Amino acid sequence: SGSSGKFFVGGNWKCNGTTASISKLVSDLNDAKMEADVDVVVAPPFVYIDQVKKTLTDRVEISSQNSWVGKGGAFTGEISVEQLKDVGCTWVILGHSERRHVIGEDDQFIGKKAAYALTENLKVIACIGERLEEREAGKTFDVCFQQLKAYADNVPSWDNIVVAYEPVWAIGTGKVATPEQAQEVHVAVRDWLKKNVSVEVASKTRIIYGGSVNGSNCAELAKQEDIDGFLVGGASLKGPEFATIVNSVT
Ligand code: PGA
Repeated sequence: SGSSGKFFVGGNWKCNGTTASISKLVSDLNDAKMEADVDVVVAPPFVYIDQVKKTLTDRVEISSQNSWVGKGGAFTGEISVEQLKDVGCTWVILGHSERRHVIGEDDQFIGKKAAYALTENLKVIACIGERLEEREAGKTFDVCFQQLKAYADNVPSWDNIVVAYEPVWAIGTGKVATPEQAQEVHVAVRDWLKKNVSVEVASKTRIIYGGSVNGSNCAELAKQEDIDGFLVGGASLKGPEFATIVNSVT
């Protein structure tokens, strides 16, 4: 691991599940053996957070998949940081590619959300990543650095941020980045943090990979020096497979 922090594995359940299927997933997670020295977090859909908090082992922390940019109030359809903390969330995923490219959130809005969440003591999984056409045009680093800069320009501190590098072309496609492709960007991200934030933040911040991670490809990826964990979508909906990914820590 390139970071001095613990290996970190997050499960992003996205807009999936029912009361029944989530009850089964929670029970499988409660039964799973997970390496002690790994931070494990799951992100259920908002409406199931309370159910998960009441039934899931405390071994696993709970994240939301989004949060409102400021204090709650007249914002129809939104969920505030205060409400998320009230129901037991300790993390929030921000800047996910589906929020950026399907819903249309921009860098500055995401940076402001991260700042607000951190100020209110919710930890942040800050996502970045390039689209296929950006990679093919040789713009992978430019895109990732621009997204990182929007976080850096807004957040009060990097103490409670995990950076998730998720190439958009690898998300939900079954087309995982090769260990070398992931490592190359992770090193570049760490280097960017060193030059633009501080040497200390660069060495402390966990940089995790996401995009078609599964029980079969996690071990090779986990061996890479600068891969400090994973953000897992599809494979996090299966308890035993998710535990395999948690246990890929090297
Ligand atoms: P995936 O999703 O593992 O299904 O590719 C990852 C993510 O979007 O966080």
